Amino acid sequence: TNWVYTFGDGKAEGGAGDFERLGGKGANLAEMCNLGLPVPPGLTIVSDVCAFYYKNSRKFPDELKPQVMQGLQRMEAITGRRFGDTERPLLVSVRSGGRASMPGMMDTVLNLGLNDATVQALGHDAGDARFAWDSYRRFIQMYADVVMGLDNEVFEEILEDEKARFGHEFDTDLTAVEWQHVVSIYKTVIEEELGEAFPQEPEVQLWGAVGAVFSSWMNARAVTYRQLHNIPEAWGTAVNIQAMVFGNLGNSSATGVAFTRNPSTGEKELYGEFLVNAQGEDVVAGIRTPQSITEVARIASGYDKPSMEKLMPEAFAEFKGICAQLEAHYRDVQDLEFTIERGKLWMLQTRNGKRTTKAAMKIAVDMVDEGLITEDEAVSRIDPTTLDQLLHPTIDPRVRREVIGSGLPASPGAATGEIVFTAEEAIVAEEEGRKAILVRIETSPEDIHGMHAAEAILTTRGGMTSHAAVVARGMGIPCVVGAGTMRIDMRNEKLIGIGITLTKGDIVTIDGSTGQVLKGEVPMIQPELSGDFGRIMAWADRSRRMTVRTNADTPADARAARSFGAEGIGLCRTEHMFFEGDRIHVMREMILAEDETGRRAALAKLMPMQRLDFTGLFTIMHGLPVTIRLLDPPLHEFLPKTDEEIAEVAGIMGMEPSVLRQRVDALHEFNPMLGHRGCRLAISYPEIVEMQARAIFEAAVLAARETGAAVVPEIMVPLVGLRSELDYVKARIDEVARAVMTEARMKIDYLVGTMIELPRAALRAHIIAEAAEFFSFGTNDLTQTTFGMSRDDAAAFIPTYQRKGIIEHDPFISLDFDGVGELIRIASERGRRTRNDMKLGICGEHGGDPASIHFCEDIGLDYVSCSPFRVPIARLAAAQAAI
Ligand code: PEP
Ligand code: MG
Repeated sequence: TNWVYTFGDGKAEGGAGDFERLGGKGANLAEMCNLGLPVPPGLTIVSDVCAFYYKNSRKFPDELKPQVMQGLQRMEAITGRRFGDTERPLLVSVRSGGRASMPGMMDTVLNLGLNDATVQALGHDAGDARFAWDSYRRFIQMYADVVMGLDNEVFEEILEDEKARFGHEFDTDLTAVEWQHVVSIYKTVIEEELGEAFPQEPEVQLWGAVGAVFSSWMNARAVTYRQLHNIPEAWGTAVNIQAMVFGNLGNSSATGVAFTRNPSTGEKELYGEFLVNAQGEDVVAGIRTPQSITEVARIASGYDKPSMEKLMPEAFAEFKGICAQLEAHYRDVQDLEFTIERGKLWMLQTRNGKRTTKAAMKIAVDMVDEGLITEDEAVSRIDPTTLDQLLHPTIDPRVRREVIGSGLPASPGAATGEIVFTAEEAIVAEEEGRKAILVRIETSPEDIHGMHAAEAILTTRGGMTSHAAVVARGMGIPCVVGAGTMRIDMRNEKLIGIGITLTKGDIVTIDGSTGQVLKGEVPMIQPELSGDFGRIMAWADRSRRMTVRTNADTPADARAARSFGAEGIGLCRTEHMFFEGDRIHVMREMILAEDETGRRAALAKLMPMQRLDFTGLFTIMHGLPVTIRLLDPPLHEFLPKTDEEIAEVAGIMGMEPSVLRQRVDALHEFNPMLGHRGCRLAISYPEIVEMQARAIFEAAVLAARETGAAVVPEIMVPLVGLRSELDYVKARIDEVARAVMTEARMKIDYLVGTMIELPRAALRAHIIAEAAEFFSFGTNDLTQTTFGMSRDDAAAFIPTYQRKGIIEHDPFISLDFDGVGELIRIASERGRRTRNDMKLGICGEHGGDPASIHFCEDIGLDYVSCSPFRVPIARLAAAQAAI
């Protein structure tokens, strides 16, 4: 087996395509070498060795050693130096480099090959003894830390003491003799602390370092990082051994990092920093302030020292050319590391550069204009989830976060305000021009007006599909739900967080993008939509197959969604229309009615309100499809709970509180999410369907007359499990349709379809499709019912499941392809078997999640529907899925 790939002198055994075996660093070093760029020679031990190492109780394959030694000989031949030589010693760096970048997580050793003899030779050869001894002490420090396990602090302390003793302020002030002295103390301390001497044999040093790098794959930091970023453990890391070049060989030497374009603005300008007379680690360590590479940036950003462009014009010119070459070659922004050794430029790393969303947009659009990439490629390069950064204010990434609690990131964006504990207080605050954060254990419909008035919402209970989460997303208000680490003491108006107790009026910041709750006010970055955004979205729209609709419950939502590019309404949750203002009272009257007469009386009041809203929706959508779902209220969301609430509601309704209490008790359900909701309500009380159908058809007539555009209402029946349920409800709808058409003397086309939210419905889809003209997958309920996990309670244990590796992600956020997805696949196939032109869509919260959208594309759904602010995300994700 070939465990080692060499590179150097214009030739490499691997290339960029081999990144799986060589890791990103090794593959790109090889690629640069093949491009003829100045890369110090080296070799890469492939990542398969990492797997071998862990499978064989930390042993290497037998062939590895001879292969490495052969590679080393090649490096010796190219450099004209020899490993361990006492005249012209070859020094090497040993670095990790996996398939995915894991910055700072794993170990590195520089200056390897130095010992008491070679340090003398290095000093001689370079004509700089100070440099040699400084390098030796750096090596000892790193090696003892990384390989021998002696904490670096020990050395830092010694260095501080000695500097003080010698009367120096900076490391750079120490002379050769003084460094030599420090080295001898280092070596003594190692022997004292570890009971073994610092290894003098370069080959022993080399294998020690290689072993340490492979071992660092399993260190705690790296393991956690991989879990956070979904990097499989099986990938392993490669190890790069490369001839050292020195940026610390005096004032004609330097080391630096650069981006080929500005990674925060996307501006097409070389952007980077360097340090004269320094080694790579110094730039990152922040001991000395780096200088600007270009003169333009030096002037613009007020660096006080001269730029590399001024100081080292030749190296700069060569570097600039290489930047352009690499960017054109990789067709993407490059993030580079380089060293200049006595005026000679060496490239040490290149990779695609990380960037802000704004920069990503600009760069993608510019590269299309430059003819570097295609429009589809530009679309594919934007991470849809990062669009949040453009649509909502976000916390300035440069500020330190004082986190006092955290929950689920239910609705993106960040906001600051004073804590209020009731909807009323939020409204008062808004009226008085103060910003409020509404903090509740959970929210209910009567909080709606307060939710609107608040800057952000925080709840300590509930999951990603809880009332607060769904409503806040719909409104585009930042929201964190299920903050289990925080507690609310309502009586004393306190919010108790991690090591802190806050009172009403105290200022907090909510980050709905991360789920964090922060103390006090935090600087924000305001969103701005650039022309680049518009162009990317236009390209995305051209490339996607699925339509993107929105979940909109009110004309205001619908208008917002249109401005984000929604192409219709995929779900209007009619019960949400009764959250606003006084409507909730009428809705309650309807729910609490003792008999049909009472119910009809309440329904008669609801009817004009619904008709008005539906007319609004139809008019705004102007001929685009509008799916209206029949009433589906989980009863507990609408009923008063506490004595106070009951007293209040009873007052409004003119009832005795005790009578109301009885009625509430009678309606109490143990599992309201699985209770008397959805079509079950319609079957118990068909007068509800009749009222809603009438409101829809009359609104369709009004809107058609008003806009002149044909209105084709799509009426959707929720929570169907049986064909007979749908038949019953559909018969009521058809009856009303006939009546309204006769009255209005107008033909209205309409569709009646169903949500697929229950496993039974998915399995019987071919039968249900005989009656249903379309399916919309209600994946919130389908996830709840497939897993048997309550969507309101799952937040209590899902984080534990994730932490323990039982599940990878929250299935209420991103679709569970294997289980819930399988049911969707089955239902789609069976539904289309019966009705081959059947329209299929998704309207659960997953409709705005990019991974779930990919799945929808793969199985051939016609549309996804999501909350208004996620429409751009869905447009982009749908395009990427189709490309
Ligand atoms: C669903 O269940 O996915 C759905 C869209 O309906 P709701 O969230 O209103 O239950
Ligand atoms: Mg549902």
